[in-house]
Amino acid sequence: MFENLLQNVKNQRQLLESTIQKLIQIRSYSGQEGEIVKFIESRMKEFDFDEVFIDGLGNIVGRIGHGPIVILYDAHIDTVKVTDNENWLYPPFEGKIVDGKIYGRGAVDEKPAMAGYLLAARAIKTLYGKQELPFSLYVVGSVMEEDCDGYPLLHLIEKEGIKPDFVLLGEPTDLKIYRGQRGRMEIEIATFGKSAHGAHNQQGINAIYRMARIIEQIEKLDQQLPSVQPLGKGSITVSDISSKGPSLCSVPDFCCIHIDRRLTLGENKEIVISQLKEIAKSLGIVAEVRIPQYHGTSWKGTKFEQEAYFPTWVLAEDHLLLKAAKATGQQVFNREVETGVWSFSTNGVATAGRLNIPTFGFAPGKEELAHSDREELVLDDLQKATEFYALFPFELMKTLNEK
Ligand SMILES: [Zn+2]
Repeated sequence: MFENLLQNVKNQRQLLESTIQKLIQIRSYSGQEGEIVKFIESRMKEFDFDEVFIDGLGNIVGRIGHGPIVILYDAHIDTVKVTDNENWLYPPFEGKIVDGKIYGRGAVDEKPAMAGYLLAARAIKTLYGKQELPFSLYVVGSVMEEDCDGYPLLHLIEKEGIKPDFVLLGEPTDLKIYRGQRGRMEIEIATFGKSAHGAHNQQGINAIYRMARIIEQIEKLDQQLPSVQPLGKGSITVSDISSKGPSLCSVPDFCCIHIDRRLTLGENKEIVISQLKEIAKSLGIVAEVRIPQYHGTSWKGTKFEQEAYFPTWVLAEDHLLLKAAKATGQQVFNREVETGVWSFSTNGVATAGRLNIPTFGFAPGKEELAHSDREELVLDDLQKATEFYALFPFELMKTLNEK
């Protein structure tokens, strides 16, 4: 069944390769995705999508089918920057193809998914475009994920009214089926003191000394955080420190630290904040503990802000969405496909973490190459992923009907 769908994808190999190449050639740093959005928009129209639009934030959105089951395929189309210190084998925006691999910024994180989605949607439209499809498949090129993971999809769902029943993320999984990730959050802690002349320091109270005692406890806390499968252990890292006083010859009356916190299953922002408040309380130190706000501006000029909290999520191993994903993998690879989790954060923090929409990931490319000057993609893997993307909606419908 659906042999013709897989065959159609195989027959379009050249178009798939030219599409990923063009996506890599268009530089699309976070907040500067206008040009790549226009390119994807033109491809979606060319491939006969039923609806194509750019939303209020600047995400590019295409839909095929009008059916009641709403599936969302997300690929963030922004990338991190190329720095002067990086040492690329081939120029990062050339999209050079050598011996079946393509090289460049975004070749892993995560332009392949968008190329695959486009060709998969094209195959479905070519073969089944005249029929009523039982699903609505949204293909989303989301913007600014590298800056504020989750926000682009939160915008699409909450402000644009697209309500997916199921979400597929195109972050690299090396053709495995991924079902979750640790969450993350940022925290700021401030301590206060009493300023005094450095020559009379006994008359002051040093806010840095107070903070030092808190930092010591945070270092201990990091060792004690629980490990929960399949995500492993959470972590806490003091990532910055600053202080203020009347001058460098004075006792400072203010000190502030910034914290990076990774969250495993069972940890959430309430737990994290109360752990830190508890530390200050047990030391008898008055401290302010808060989650900072993230502020961003998209390529469209749309301003937004969000609390710097990105919740943990895991899809249950026996969830029907994973069943459908595994059935699809079986069809495409003729073998069982392994499951796993990401070590980094994804747009799933919004769809699964905040909104509880069943979400999983599948894409080519090795996670450990993301954000490095070694980004490379095996083009055969991209073709396999594209076959998966074309077949998945139909396997999902089968799984739902069997329920
Ligand atoms: Zn990514």
